[in-house]
Amino acid sequence: MSQTPSARVIGVRDDIVSIRMLKDDEGEFYPITKNEVVLICPQRTDGARQEKLQAEVLRVRHGEADVQVFETTRGVAVGDAVEQTGQMLSVSLGPGLLGQVYDGLQNPLEVIAGQQGFFLPRGLAVDGIDQQQKWSFQPSVKVGARVKAGDLLGRVAESRFSHKIMVPFNLRGEAEVTWVQEGSFTVSTPVVRLRLSNGDEREVSMQQRWPVRVPVNRDLLREGYNQRQFPDQPMLTSIRLIDTFFPVALGGTACIPGPFGAGKTVLQGLISRYSNVDIVVIVACGERAGEVVETITEFPNMPDPRGGTLMDRTVIICNTSSMPVAAREASIYTGITISEYYRQMGYNVLLIADSTSRWAQAMRETSGRLEEIPGEEAFPAYLDSAVRALYERAGMVLTNEHEQGSLTLIGTVSPAGGNFEEPVTQSTLRTVKTFLGLSAERAYKRAYPAVDPLISWSRYLDQLEGWFNDRLAPQWVEQVKRMLALLREGEQVQQMMQVTGEEGVTLDDYLAWQKSQCLDQVYLQQDAFDDVDASTPVERQKELFMLLVECLDNPPALKDKDAVRAHFVKLAGLFRNLNYSRHDSPDYRRYLSEIKQMVVHVQAS
Ligand code: ADP
Repeated sequence: MSQTPSARVIGVRDDIVSIRMLKDDEGEFYPITKNEVVLICPQRTDGARQEKLQAEVLRVRHGEADVQVFETTRGVAVGDAVEQTGQMLSVSLGPGLLGQVYDGLQNPLEVIAGQQGFFLPRGLAVDGIDQQQKWSFQPSVKVGARVKAGDLLGRVAESRFSHKIMVPFNLRGEAEVTWVQEGSFTVSTPVVRLRLSNGDEREVSMQQRWPVRVPVNRDLLREGYNQRQFPDQPMLTSIRLIDTFFPVALGGTACIPGPFGAGKTVLQGLISRYSNVDIVVIVACGERAGEVVETITEFPNMPDPRGGTLMDRTVIICNTSSMPVAAREASIYTGITISEYYRQMGYNVLLIADSTSRWAQAMRETSGRLEEIPGEEAFPAYLDSAVRALYERAGMVLTNEHEQGSLTLIGTVSPAGGNFEEPVTQSTLRTVKTFLGLSAERAYKRAYPAVDPLISWSRYLDQLEGWFNDRLAPQWVEQVKRMLALLREGEQVQQMMQVTGEEGVTLDDYLAWQKSQCLDQVYLQQDAFDDVDASTPVERQKELFMLLVECLDNPPALKDKDAVRAHFVKLAGLFRNLNYSRHDSPDYRRYLSEIKQMVVHVQAS
């Protein structure tokens, strides 16, 4: 890191600082590149600690640049020295990430709280990974081995995961292992030495730095060491409404818009807890401080259905709206980069970004300060491409070890006043493949999860048809679509009845309405606070869905609306009891046989 100033501050406007480059001995401006990190050093006259404020270069002109400071620019003045780091905004990748709570620049909040009280003094950066802790490194290469970027060098045990130590992702060409050591070391101790193709030696430790705005596997894909794969299996959440009706693929993308109080937090908790992913990364971006505190205090204590606590396999990155806007914008990229790192080890990673609206707002604020030409609602004109670039970092990848790793990205949006027409929601909907539309109206009726089946959609239902039809039942997807049509039909009848009353609709219409109500109540709705009903594994979903479809398709002859109502009250009651019973318990079998009797009775009649 350079210690001599290579630029001086010439202007300050909120967190945007303009700098003029100094000239080197040859009379040339020191070179500076976009996205490089520089350090602003406000002059101190009182002998206090020299602060160095991190800033990212946003715009470069001849001999000048605009940089965005990640902290408050209080006291920064014209003439202050600027040092260059020569690096882009980067994070540390290595063992010790799991279980951490970071701010947007990967400062571990717990460490800071321990050292500094709850607020990080300005200009202080703490290592994202504990530099003292030792990890037992088990090499998997020998001297003489030829390796390339992303290849496995060895492993350490990180909580219950085998954490792969890989050749730095930016290594060019092939290299030869010239030395390797086994044992217990800190993350910065060299464990392998490589001879590069140009003859240079490079020492490799268990941690590497990576620029957050660049996909971890960019070079690996370009060189053909990794392949992108088409997502071909669902990320099973054990939430019936999602897995059956609006599935998300492993390595896929989804959007959850949430009017306040519609159950977004509960839904995210359920998804993180029960989904068939190995690692969960949560980016709480720019929510109110109170909510963030809730996330960090509740999450660590949540039991993991696979044993231990959920925090053992979680990384949380949080920024409140009281933190500077640039750090808020960066936090999503920090989260994605950490997620990609674990995907590179062959794990299935889920990233929940809550909320991408705040991220986009941070982008808008910056764009405004740079006086860029605004697009719709003052968002930058490149909003659409920024949203797309974000979600494109999700995906399924075949790694160097020929293992599948996936990164599934679920972003929430918080459209003001529930207006889905606003630019961030619109850009997101054009990009993602699943839309889980939480509705205030359903939440008000306590129909949880309050995802409205009439506005939600998933392109993965067709894309994963092969998986569903092979693994669950032939024509599964067709049946699901038929049941979705039933929900729409029921809604139409309901609207009619609001005008005419029950008497105004035919018996057939009334029957369709009752069927759709039953489907909604016993299948779509699921009680997050019941030990059993909170999660329905896919095998159980299959059993339940097939049985329910059979019941709805074959109602007995019911002579009038009273008979229809009585039949469905009984059926729904039995199904609900079934949902609350442990799978294959005596109760479960009893309710199942009672329901089946209703079907048998049907078939006999
Ligand atoms: P949001 O984050 O959207 O403001 P929450 O997720 O905190 O809303 O949910 C608000 C309340 O709604 C919860 O405290 C809970 O009582 C209820 N709720 C939400 N989702 C469910 C669910 N799946 N099952 C049962 N109750 C729920």
